[in-house]
Amino acid sequence: MPGMMDTILNLGFNDSVAQRLIEKSGDEKFVYDLYSRFISMFSEIAKGMDRNKFEEIKKKGIEGKELVTEYKKLYEDEQGTKFPESSQEQLMIAVESIFRSWNNERARVYRELNNIDDRMGTAVVIQKMVFGNMNDSSATGVAFTRNPSTGEKEVTGEYLIHAQGEDIVAGIRTPDPMEHMKTTMPKIYEEFEGISEKLEKHYRNMQDIEFTVEDGRLYILQTRNGKRTAWAAVKIAVDMMKERLITEEEAILSVEPKSVSQIIQGDFDSAELKKAVLMGKGLPGSLGVASGRVVLDSARVPKEGKTILVRDETSPEDIKGISLAEGILTVRGGITSHGAVVARGMGKCCVTGCGDIVIDEKKREFTLNGHVIKEGDYISLSGYTGNIYIGQIPIREAKIAGEFKEFLEMAARHKRLGVRANADTPLDAAAAIEMGAEGIGLCRTEHMFFQEERIWAVREMILADNHEDRKKALDKIMTMQERDFIEMFRIMKDNPFAIRLLDPPLHEFLPKNENDIQYMAQLLNAEPEKVRKRVAALQEHNPMLGLRGCRLAVVYPEIYEMQAEAISKAYLECLKENIDIKLEIMIPLTISREELKYVKEKVSAVIDPKVKYLLGTMIELPRACVTAGEIAKEAEFFSFGTNDLTQTTLGFSRDDAGLFIGEYEAKEIIKKDPFVTIDKDGVGKLVEIAAKSGKAARKNLEVGVCGEHGGDPESVMFFNSLEIDYVSCSPYRIPISIVSAAQAFIKDKSC
Ligand code: PEP
Ligand code: MG
Repeated sequence: MPGMMDTILNLGFNDSVAQRLIEKSGDEKFVYDLYSRFISMFSEIAKGMDRNKFEEIKKKGIEGKELVTEYKKLYEDEQGTKFPESSQEQLMIAVESIFRSWNNERARVYRELNNIDDRMGTAVVIQKMVFGNMNDSSATGVAFTRNPSTGEKEVTGEYLIHAQGEDIVAGIRTPDPMEHMKTTMPKIYEEFEGISEKLEKHYRNMQDIEFTVEDGRLYILQTRNGKRTAWAAVKIAVDMMKERLITEEEAILSVEPKSVSQIIQGDFDSAELKKAVLMGKGLPGSLGVASGRVVLDSARVPKEGKTILVRDETSPEDIKGISLAEGILTVRGGITSHGAVVARGMGKCCVTGCGDIVIDEKKREFTLNGHVIKEGDYISLSGYTGNIYIGQIPIREAKIAGEFKEFLEMAARHKRLGVRANADTPLDAAAAIEMGAEGIGLCRTEHMFFQEERIWAVREMILADNHEDRKKALDKIMTMQERDFIEMFRIMKDNPFAIRLLDPPLHEFLPKNENDIQYMAQLLNAEPEKVRKRVAALQEHNPMLGLRGCRLAVVYPEIYEMQAEAISKAYLECLKENIDIKLEIMIPLTISREELKYVKEKVSAVIDPKVKYLLGTMIELPRACVTAGEIAKEAEFFSFGTNDLTQTTLGFSRDDAGLFIGEYEAKEIIKKDPFVTIDKDGVGKLVEIAAKSGKAARKNLEVGVCGEHGGDPESVMFFNSLEIDYVSCSPYRIPISIVSAAQAFIKDKSC
């Protein structure tokens, strides 16, 4: 938890220690600087006093012994007791306060964001002081064994000559890059490089090392596994595997699955970037790009909307604001300041140390090289270059290439679960293949009609009150469907492709207002009143439990017949092109074997005998789960619709649960939103029962999961432990699922 817990430096000072140190070093200024730093740090950390009050005294120009006296006086005034002289007393108070800092606000928020157990607790390290602020042959710094932004194998970090550690991590002074040390302190740099290699070999992980040089001698204060961007994590994993420092399995386990999404965040659209106005430059603190409205105070960063937090310097107190903002821009501080470290850990784009910015808190604006930017104005940041632009720049999704591609291929070799995509359009299907999908696990055919020009044909079909009119509308739809399927078959080639027949919750498709009704009447050449009446007749109190899924096919069999015919025609067309189509036709919301049998017969009857396909069903209702053994007698595959299964098992509406789920989480009645992470004990149990009894009834039954949970790492890990063959998720979550599935498999194997 870098920077989340407290440190007190220079502990042990009192008047006689100071006197002895002066005699020894002959440097009174240095000694009193340390002494006064200690008093203010101790007062702030151990006693909760306001550091600014000490700064105010210093600003008056008071120095040396007098400053120590004034500081002590402030302490005494506020605490009502003398500043502790005994170093043992100081130590006990300090140790206690460091233990206490486990529970400070920022540490708690950090743990929550990073899933760290509150009960873990901490240790306190008591360490001999060395002084980076002793003279000009002294320095202090923080450096990584590899570049934490790019993953490049090069010592990367910063140091400050004549300074103490707090000066560097607090981001108060902008430090020099380690590169400079090669010329200013060449011997020290060489020694540091050697130690850094040794530590990396020992820990078999990239290290974040804090060091101090005291009067020409190097001391290593601390080392830990370094935080890094997702991109760096992937590159370091692949490189270390190639260097034989770690195994393939260890490389896969070293990358947080969720962080993989950062890599797919991408970059600015290059054409748009050429047109953008560059207003200044800072240091590239954390990779990625961001565009958003400026906010100057972390407490004011809104939960919704894209924002860029602009601060003089970031302190760990800003963590909440950082977590909500799209990007971070700071005036001071280097790439190892806590603000940058935290942003990188969160995968936020961050530009630091742009000293040309002048913030005017009162006017709620900042100026940079003559440009005045008000709070609420748009700016854009590049964490790759440190560039700061005026206005919004469109962001282009990243491609899967280089080490990321190698990493995903390596993960794909180490998993059991298949990973498919939920893709409804040719564009999605192409993106899915690019992301590494092994097929389409769910093509929601109703989503093929969301475009303006198509939705009217579906409305016409829904509103038809007789077979003939419905058939007319269906004929229009069939041509569109056939064209879409041909295109999708061509993209998917010989990868499995599960087409789900229509499942339109009617309220999503009915005309929504009087304008829609008028337009519909015009299209149908009918009286608006007639359309109005039909819409009213189709209104449902619970549309999510209404004429949905295969209920629609039982009432109007011609709808699924039309779709089956379109699929059949498209298939035959692509057969001519020698595409080896792996077609799966999926029936939604089945409740029983009898229902599936009825629908299956209608569908099969219109499909050409030359078409090879599997016919299966979604399992997304509790009744289907508990009767899965029976249903499997009719179904050649199952796909769990865990969205509807969560909705119907918990009785939480998919559309409205946001109204209360937050309360349930806050009151710890549920740990996680069950629509995001599978409710293992309830919904998960039903999935387990159904998969087991389905496979028992039909040995080669193929079983998948195509609800949103297929892209959630924790849920994927759970599915790996069941009799599930694959998960299916949206195209941009595929890399996350591949990595999660590989990690689950590796972990299970080692248990
Ligand atoms: C589901 O219910 O989980 C599912 C995938 O189907 P839909 O989201 O389309 O209802
Ligand atoms: Mg569903």
